[in-house]
Amino acid sequence: MSNDTSARTEAIGFETDTNPLVRSLKPLQAAHHRALSYIETAHRRPVAPKQEAIAGLGGFDGPLPEQGNDPNDTIALLDRIGSPATVTSTGGRFFGLVVGGTLPAALAARTLTSAWDQVVFSEATSPVGVHLEQVASAWLLDLLGLPGDASVGFVTGATMANVTCLAAARHHLLEQAGWDVETKGLWDAPRLRFVAGEQLHVTVRKALSLLGCGTESIETVPCDEQGRLIPDALPALDGRTIILAQAGNVNSGASDPIGEIARRANAAGAWTHVDGAFGLWAAASARTRDQLDGYEAAQSWVVDGHKWLNTPYDCGVAICAHPQALHEAMRTQAPYLKVGGSVAPKDMVPEFSRSARGVEVWAALHSLGRVGVADLIDRCCRHARALAEGLERLGFEILNDVVLNQVVATMPEREHEMAGLAARVQASGEAWFGPTQWRGRAGLRFSIASWATTDDDITRTLDAIESKLETS
Ligand SMILES: *Cc1c(COP(=O)(O)O)cnc(C)c1O
Repeated sequence: MSNDTSARTEAIGFETDTNPLVRSLKPLQAAHHRALSYIETAHRRPVAPKQEAIAGLGGFDGPLPEQGNDPNDTIALLDRIGSPATVTSTGGRFFGLVVGGTLPAALAARTLTSAWDQVVFSEATSPVGVHLEQVASAWLLDLLGLPGDASVGFVTGATMANVTCLAAARHHLLEQAGWDVETKGLWDAPRLRFVAGEQLHVTVRKALSLLGCGTESIETVPCDEQGRLIPDALPALDGRTIILAQAGNVNSGASDPIGEIARRANAAGAWTHVDGAFGLWAAASARTRDQLDGYEAAQSWVVDGHKWLNTPYDCGVAICAHPQALHEAMRTQAPYLKVGGSVAPKDMVPEFSRSARGVEVWAALHSLGRVGVADLIDRCCRHARALAEGLERLGFEILNDVVLNQVVATMPEREHEMAGLAARVQASGEAWFGPTQWRGRAGLRFSIASWATTDDDITRTLDAIESKLETS
């Protein structure tokens, strides 16, 4: 924090002020200092927390306090016990799941919007929240090359974005069949069909079960060696079919041939839904866009802010080319809610009250610009290729075509040692990646999705792997 700010806050005299809000500035300032020092030291921290730090979490245990504590003590305790027990995913060497870091502008925007405490429910409750979400929506559609009149809803993550889009798809197809699913439910409804590649993400299954459609009815289509659905293996499609396509396989990074799938689906009146939690960001760079060839002909798309765009959690985006279907599936009806005007956020997503998460998307896009987003995508892909080359030099076999930010590697003859190797590197605190199974082989899986990852982080990760290999 600059001297300017400290001087100003002291001048406010917040400790003795009669206004409770002014007195609340002291713990806020303390939290701010602690957050700065956490981030400042992130690149030196162990990526996985030390055992002592995890054991130290017991310091939070105990009964609900009868009397309250000074908020300054609350924050001090949180930092002292909590900060050492974090996984340093905000640093440059966390390669598990598809996590990403947090961009400076996005984190700063969250800090400011937390102070605003907006509920982005409608224009009445947050003019700025709604307005910035509209700006962010238009920018996202432009950046991702999607239809400009598509509806965009900001939800907690790709899981809820899948629920949201599939509810819209369900509404649309059942409405065409003369069935009002929001009122009548699925009892006695015409049956919908779901068609998906065998590499369908678990959260799309979860979305189907939450929507009452079940997972048993999914018609599974074989995939090629990169995990891409084989279009020629699709069953006959019809106007009751929802195809669950994928942009970005969580292991290989490969995308289904979405354009070809959507072409067949559109000819049959079926709906193509694209789960592109991280992979849809490939559309934001000229170097990777062709992997998604024809994706814009689908009807709905899911992408996460909190993965590759590096916004804070919770931030997923549901995009639907049929705004009316999305609105019908998501609208809330109650007399006191009729505030008129354009569609309110509460009528575009499952959440009623929620944070101004679209502002973080706006901040990320405002700070990066089109060129900066493309650069983030390209840089992560370049790191992935460098990591794969380095692993090959160490004797690993790369099991996927490194077309995006994902690397799956194994050591021939030593596949059974891979999980142990991942655990030893995790325990060293140098880097974090997990074991995986890919096409029947045990290996290591890396996902490079953070703006904070540098060339040096890749070198350090390779060095850590090399040293832990030797001790095996
Ligand atoms: C991460 C991921 C999801 C789930 O996203 P959340 O934001 O964690 O809910 C869905 N699909 C794919 C392909 C993913 O990578």
